[in-house]
Amino acid sequence: MPRTVAGVDVGSTAVKCVILDDAKTILATSLRPTGWAPREAAEEALAEALRAAAMDQGGLDGVVATGYGRRTVPEEWTAKVVTEIGCHARGARRFAPDATLVLDIGGQDSKAILVNEAGAVADFVMNDKCAAGTGRFVSSMATALGLDVTQLAERATEGVPVQLSSMCAVFAESEIIGCIARGVAPADLAAGVFLSIARRLKSLLGRFPPTETCLFTGGLAQNAHIAALFSRHLDMTVKPASFPQHAGAMGAALHALDA
Ligand code: ADP
Repeated sequence: MPRTVAGVDVGSTAVKCVILDDAKTILATSLRPTGWAPREAAEEALAEALRAAAMDQGGLDGVVATGYGRRTVPEEWTAKVVTEIGCHARGARRFAPDATLVLDIGGQDSKAILVNEAGAVADFVMNDKCAAGTGRFVSSMATALGLDVTQLAERATEGVPVQLSSMCAVFAESEIIGCIARGVAPADLAAGVFLSIARRLKSLLGRFPPTETCLFTGGLAQNAHIAALFSRHLDMTVKPASFPQHAGAMGAALHALDA
């Protein structure tokens, strides 16, 4: 009997859902803002993916949830205990099975995950204590410059990075506003934002043996300019994963298939 499962990643910013069949083929995906009601957002994300796959929830053989808000979702989705780190690594490697280092930048945290040859998590480091080096930092710096994240990344490719001295997101925003007032070119400031994040990432990645490549996941990995900027500053190829923002949901769905 063919099986169909779902993985739901309840992130700090967005809920992602992936529906897989037992050949590990993606039947549908969805994405909803997490907002203030993560459980409802997760249920809506699942319902949206089910609609896209032209099926109803009764047709699913299992649902596994992961992510920051996984404790808010229906209990049966968390009956199988899988770590968020494990889901990200497994989902990221679905289409890049040789990758040994995964860099995930989400809305409110960033993590580097070292994977062994068997595909298991060997080690990881996570920054979830401050906004610097996260999607939230990028969004707030973009807002300070009157841009969206896509425009910020595009401008950054044209600029010579300004050294921002503040590592803290709140102070960095004031620093950017001060620089705008002094007439510093927005492209140079945009470039400085990504250099500042890369410095943070360097200290995360520096805990592991150096590699030539890392697999990049999370919302920011959808933007090719951002991957290119990080590649330049980190002296390695930062390669966006396939379906990068859905890596955690993909990993959760793969765990659901194991059940
Ligand atoms: P979380 O799992 O914490 O909810 P995600 O991995 O879903 O985080 O990533 C959310 C972040 O991705 C947000 O900060 C958002 O600004 C950023 N993001 C979303 N879409 C894009 C895009 N197309 N280009 C660049 N950044 C993006």
